[in-house]
Amino acid sequence: MEKITSELIQKVKQVPIENFLPSRFKVSNGKKFYLCPLPGHQEKKPSFVLYPSNTYKCYGCLRVGDSIQFILDLMGWDKHNKEEFIEAVNYLKKYI
Ligand SMILES: [Zn+2]
Repeated sequence: MEKITSELIQKVKQVPIENFLPSRFKVSNGKKFYLCPLPGHQEKKPSFVLYPSNTYKCYGCLRVGDSIQFILDLMGWDKHNKEEFIEAVNYLKKYI
């Protein structure tokens, strides 16, 4: 298995979360609220906010995180599961 370096982790954290989002959004108070694509979501209105630091918060399901956490959330994976964490990093690596 390929080694996951801290440099690689820093690079994949820069992969824009926006690349994985549905395009529909609205702007409120200068923020873009997207439809939350994460599983188990009950909200029908946009509640997912992206920050310039490439982190997110969803005011519907209250998930927060960076691009790696976003893929983990999207896939229903656990960051404490080493194999799933590596899968998420490898998934994002394709978008560097
Ligand atoms: Zn959500």
